Amino acid sequence: MLSEYSLDNLKGIGPKQLEKLHKLGLFVVRDLLFHLPLRYQDKTRKTELETVLVGQEALIEGEVFSQHLTQGRRSSLLVKIQSPSGVFLTLRFFHFHYRQAQQFSRGKTLRVFGEVRTGPNGYEMVHPVYQFIDPSNPPPLDDTLTPTYPTTEGFGQASLLKLMKQALTLLEQYPLPELLPHALVSSENLPDLNQAIKTLHQPQPSDDLRQIKRFEHPAQQRLIIEELISQQVGLQMLRKSEKQRFAPKLPTSQMANELIMSLPFTLTNAQQRVLLEIQADLKQNHPMQRLVQGDVGSGKTVIAAIAAIQAAEAGYQVAIMAPTEILAEQHKNAFLEWLEPLGIETAWLNGKMKAAEKRFMLAQVESGNAKVVIGTHALFQDAVTFNKLGLVIIDEQHRFGVHQRLALHEKGQSFIAEEQDTLEVHPHQLIMTATPIPRTLAMTAYGDLDLSVIDERPPGRQAIDTAVLNNEKRFEVMEHLANKCEQGVQAYWVCPLIEESELLHAQAAEVTAEQFRSHWPNLRTGLIHGRLKGEEKVAIMAAFKAHELDLLVATTVIEVGVNVPNASLMIIENAERLGLAQLHQLRGRVGRGSLKSHCVLLYQAPLSETGKSRLQIMRETDDGFRIAEEDLKIRGPGEILGTRQTGGLQFRIADLRRDAQWIPLAQHWSAKLVENDTQAVKALQDRWIGQNIDYQHA
Ligand code: ADP
Ligand code: MG
Repeated sequence: MLSEYSLDNLKGIGPKQLEKLHKLGLFVVRDLLFHLPLRYQDKTRKTELETVLVGQEALIEGEVFSQHLTQGRRSSLLVKIQSPSGVFLTLRFFHFHYRQAQQFSRGKTLRVFGEVRTGPNGYEMVHPVYQFIDPSNPPPLDDTLTPTYPTTEGFGQASLLKLMKQALTLLEQYPLPELLPHALVSSENLPDLNQAIKTLHQPQPSDDLRQIKRFEHPAQQRLIIEELISQQVGLQMLRKSEKQRFAPKLPTSQMANELIMSLPFTLTNAQQRVLLEIQADLKQNHPMQRLVQGDVGSGKTVIAAIAAIQAAEAGYQVAIMAPTEILAEQHKNAFLEWLEPLGIETAWLNGKMKAAEKRFMLAQVESGNAKVVIGTHALFQDAVTFNKLGLVIIDEQHRFGVHQRLALHEKGQSFIAEEQDTLEVHPHQLIMTATPIPRTLAMTAYGDLDLSVIDERPPGRQAIDTAVLNNEKRFEVMEHLANKCEQGVQAYWVCPLIEESELLHAQAAEVTAEQFRSHWPNLRTGLIHGRLKGEEKVAIMAAFKAHELDLLVATTVIEVGVNVPNASLMIIENAERLGLAQLHQLRGRVGRGSLKSHCVLLYQAPLSETGKSRLQIMRETDDGFRIAEEDLKIRGPGEILGTRQTGGLQFRIADLRRDAQWIPLAQHWSAKLVENDTQAVKALQDRWIGQNIDYQHA
C-alpha cells in the first residue's frame, strides 16, 4: 500500500533528503503522488521577441549582442540578445562565475527560458535557463510540459522529478482506491484517479497542454474537486459533532420585544430576518453555530443585544467578547442603556480594573447575579467561572484566523460542563464580523457555521464621498479639516502603522496631533493610540463621543467597531500601505449617522499598481461585499482570512480564486459523504490533509 510505503525505500533517498521531504509534509509514497505541480513550464514552442508579453514565461532564441558587468557593491552580469528584426532582451545574472561571463561572446545563438519583465532597458529576464545552440541545427523543443513543484531549499526540481518517476512506477503496481461517490464520478464524468495523477505529473504530448497550463484539464478538475471535498468534510464533521451536543433551549423572549419597541428606530428588514434566524436557532436544544456578516454600520450590536436578552430571560448567562478594550467599553455602554431598564444585570471586565472591583465583578458572574458579561477576548481567557452560561457572542471575529477561531470555539465549550437532566450542556455561539467575505470563500472557510447576512444599512445613511490625494496636499487637507471642525464637524485623522512597532506608530500620531495643536490652537484635538492605558483610551473616546473634542488623531486602534455617529470626516494617511479590508473598516467609522460624510485617502507617491487599484476601488464603492470580492482578487484568500493564519486552507491543487465554481458541488457532495460514509471521509482526509490534521477537535 502506497499509503504505508515510506519514502526512504526510494532510490537516492538518504537521511538528509528524507528530512527535507518531511519538511514538505511528505512521508510516504502516496504523499509524494499528491504533491502536485504548482504550475507548468512550457518549453514546447518558441516565442518571438516581437510578440512576447511582459509577465509571460517564454522560450526565446536570439543572438548575443553585448555583455557587460554592472558597477556597484555587487556587480551583476547583463547579457543582451537580439532577435533577427532587432528587438533586444537583457538577461540579468546576480550570481555567476567569471568564466560563465566570458562564454557570451557576440554573435553566438542562445535559447533561453524564463519570465519576461520590463527592466531599465526594455525586456529583461532574471536568471533564465539558457543553452547555446547551433542555429542551423537547433536541438528539438520539448514535446510536453515540465511540472514545477512546491519545494524546499536544497531539494531541487530535478530531484523531485526523479522521485516522481519512481512513485508513478509504483502506482502502476499499486493503484489507489477511488474514494469519491460513484454517482459523482459518473455524473461529472470524472476521469480515473490514477490516470489523473499520472497526467498531472507527466503530461503527455497528446494531452491538451493549454488546458493543463490553465488547470482546466479534466484530470486536474477531478483532483481539485476531490481536494475541495476533503477540506469541506472536515468542517462539516465539526459541524455535525457540534450539532450532536446539547444546548439549553432559549424560548423567544418578551423582554426582547420590549427593547425592540423602545428603540428610537425600527429594525431594517435584514436585521429582522437575521434575528429570526438566530431566534430559531436558540430555541433548539443543540448549540447554535452562527456567523453573522454585516457591513460596518449595518447594526449588528442591537441584534447581539436582543439575542443576549433572550438568553438572560430564560435564566442563562451571556458572555460577550470584543477584540479591543475600546470596543468592549462601547458595548458596555450600549448594553447598559438597553438592558438596565429591563432589569438585567450586566457585569464587565477590563484590563485596568482595580482588584476589588474585578473581584466583585467575578463574584457577580460566578453567583449568576450578573446575566450579561462583557469583556475583551483576552479577559475571558483568564479564569472566569460562570454559573450557567447559555450563549457566547464573539464580536468582530474577522481579526482572527481559522485556528484562533477554533481555539475560541473550544474556549466557549470549556466554560460550562454543567449537569442538567444528566446532560452536558454547551452554550450557543453567535459570531459577528464586519468583514464581508465573498460567499464562496465563506462557504469554504466557515463551512462549520451557519451563515446570516445583514445586507442592508439603516435608512438615511448617505454614501461616503471618498477622495484620493497625494501627500503633497497634506497641509491643505489639515487646513480644510480645521475649517470644517470650526463649523461643527467632528473628524478623525488616522496615522496607520508604518513600522511594525507600537512605539513608532504612536509617535507618528503624536507628531500629527502636535502639528494640529500648534497651528490651530482653538481646535480641540485629542490623541489616541495603542500605548495609552485602557482607561485613558476610554476617557478620550468618551470625550470625542460627547463632542468635547473636534478632532481625534488616532492610530488604527479605532479600526474596529468604534461608533461615534456625529463624526463625518476622516483622513487616512499613507492609505497605500493598508489593505482594502482595513481601509473599509477605518472608513466605516464615518457615515454612521445622518450627516453626509467625507473621507480623504492621502498617499505617498509613487503608487504601485496594486496600490493604485486599491485606492481606486475605495473611491468607487463603499459596498463591503464588492470590496471583499476585489480584495480576494488582489490578495488571495489566505490574506483575507487573517494573515498566514489560514490553517486548513492551504491547498495542494485547488485555488479558491480560480476554482470557486466547484465549491457548491464540493459542498453538496461532502454533505452526502458526512451523512453516509464516514469511512470515505476519514480516508479522504487522511489522503489530502494527512499529517497536518490539526483542523478539527477529534
Ligand atoms: P456594526 O454593525 O458596525 O456593529 P452598530 O451596531 O455599531 O454597527 O450600529 C451602528 C449605528 O447604527 C448605531 O448607532 C446603532 O444604534 C444604529 N442602528 C442600528 N440599527 C439601526 C436601524 N435599524 N436604524 C437606524 N439606526 C440603527
Ligand atoms: Mg460592531
